[in-house]
Amino acid sequence: MESESIAAVEIFFFPFVGGGHQIPMVDMARIFAHHGANSTILSTPKHALPFQDLIKRDQSSGLSISIHILNLPENVDIANTDMSASPQTDTSILQESLQSLLLQRRPDCIVHDMFHRWCADTIDSYGVTRIIFSGNACFARCVQENVRLYKPYENVSSDSEPFVVPGLPEKIEFTKSQLPGFFRNQQNGHQRRFPISGKKEFGVVVNSFYELEPAYAEYFRNEMGNKSWLVGPVSLCNNNVQDKFERGKKTSMDEQRILSWLDGQTPNSVLYISFGSIARLTTDQLVEVGYGLEASNVQFIWVVGRVFKSTENDQTNQGSVLPSELEYRIRESGKGLIIHGWAPQLLILDHPAVGGFMTHCGWNSTLEGVSAGVPMITWPISAEQFDNEKLIADVLKTGVKAGSMHWTSWNDNPPPTLGRDKVETVVKRLMGGGEEVAEMRRRARELAEKAKKAIKEGGSSYKDVDALIQELKSMKKVGNPIDTLDHQMVSKELS
Ligand code: UDP
Repeated sequence: MESESIAAVEIFFFPFVGGGHQIPMVDMARIFAHHGANSTILSTPKHALPFQDLIKRDQSSGLSISIHILNLPENVDIANTDMSASPQTDTSILQESLQSLLLQRRPDCIVHDMFHRWCADTIDSYGVTRIIFSGNACFARCVQENVRLYKPYENVSSDSEPFVVPGLPEKIEFTKSQLPGFFRNQQNGHQRRFPISGKKEFGVVVNSFYELEPAYAEYFRNEMGNKSWLVGPVSLCNNNVQDKFERGKKTSMDEQRILSWLDGQTPNSVLYISFGSIARLTTDQLVEVGYGLEASNVQFIWVVGRVFKSTENDQTNQGSVLPSELEYRIRESGKGLIIHGWAPQLLILDHPAVGGFMTHCGWNSTLEGVSAGVPMITWPISAEQFDNEKLIADVLKTGVKAGSMHWTSWNDNPPPTLGRDKVETVVKRLMGGGEEVAEMRRRARELAEKAKKAIKEGGSSYKDVDALIQELKSMKKVGNPIDTLDHQMVSKELS
C-alpha cells in the first residue's frame, strides 16, 4: 500500500457502546489497518465480545489491529444491554482508564464517537490529534446545521406544514413534525450533540463516499468549514461470508437456512425488512406490518426487533410479539422468513434475490442498502433518519416513503401507527415492478458500482484514507505539539 520510511501511524478508534455506532467504527479501524496504520479499538469487556473473533482473524492474517480493553470499576458496566445503548448513555466512567492509556501510549491520533461527549477535553489535554466520528452522512450534517442556523420551522403555522431548508444545494423540504423534539419544545433547549472542548477537533471522518453526495460533501467542507475525510462505505470491508455473518452480533438464525431460502427465490423478488439495532415499533405497529406484508403477497425476510417497553422497567419485552396465527401462516406459506433478534444484514442485502429494503433509515443501514444496489422503502423514526430518508427518496431517487411523519425520541410516546393498507400499498409499489421502480433500480445499481469503486485503489474513499494517514505521518515527522503543562498536570493527578 505504501512505503514505510517512518514508523506506521498509530490510530486509536474509540467507538460508542451501541450497534449503529460501534459496528462502522470497527470496520473503519480495519480499513485503516489495511492501509498500513496500526489500529487499536478501545472498548469495554462486554462490548468487545461481538467483534473479538473478527479481530483475531484479522491479526492472524497479518493485519496490524488490536483491541484495548478499558478497565471499569468492579461490577460496573455501561448500558445493561450489549448492542443497544441509547445515545444518552453516559460513558464518562471510562475517563480514567482512557487517561492512563493516553499517558502510556501516545497515539498519533484518536478517532472518537461524538456520543462520548466528555472525552474531547481529556484527549486535547494530552495533545493527541483528535478526530470525530458522528455516524452521519454529510447530507444530514448540512440539513441539521441549516435548520439550526436559519430556524425555518419558525415560519410555519403547524407541525404538518412543509418548509424548505434554506441555503442547501437542492430544495429539501421538511415538516416540523419530522424534526427532533427539541425544535418543537423550545423550553427543553437544544441538546448539544458534539463534544465540548476549548479546542476544535482536527477533523471529521465520515462513513460515506464523495460520489454519493458530492454537493453536500463540498458544502460540509467549504461552507461549514469541516476538515473531513469520506472513507466509506466502511461495510464493504467485510468481503467474506464469515465476516458478514458475524458482523455486529451472533445472528439469531442459522446462516445456511437463510442462504438456502434466498437461493430458492428469483432475483429481486425478496423484500428485506429491518428497523436497525435500537428502533422500537409498538406491538400494534408490528402487527400492521405483518398483515400488510401478507396482503402484498411478496416474498420477504423480516427482522422483528425490539418493541416499545410496556413499562419503564420492562427490559424483557422482546421476541414473539406477533399473533401466532399470522406467524404460523407466514411460515406455512413459505412466503417469508421471520428472524427474531439479529440478522446477518450484509449477507442478506448482498444476495441477488433481495430486490428491496424496508428500513428505518439508520445511516449504516441506508448506506448498506446503497452499497448493495437495492431500492428502499424509507420508514424513519428518530435521530437523523428523516434526513437520510430525504437523501434516498428526494435527492437520489432510489426509494419510496412509507409515510412516516413523526420524529420520535427513544423515550417518547410512540408515533401514530401506519395501517396495514398503507404498508401493503407501499410494498406493492416497490416490489411490483413497473417503470418507476425499474428506473429506481437502475439508479441504485449505478450508485452501488460507484460505492465499490470508491473504496478500491484509486477510488475517492481509498484516497481519503491514504490522505489522512499521510497527514498524520507528516505531523509525526514535525513532532506532535504537546501541551506539556496540561500533560504534566494530568500525570500528577493520576499518580
Ligand atoms: N444490523 C444487523 N442485523 C440486525 C440489525 C442491525 O447486522 O438484525 C446492523 C446493520 O447492518 C447496521 C447496524 O446494525 O450496520 C445498524 O445501524 P443503523 O445506523 O442502520 O441503525 P441503528 O441501529 O443505529 O438505529
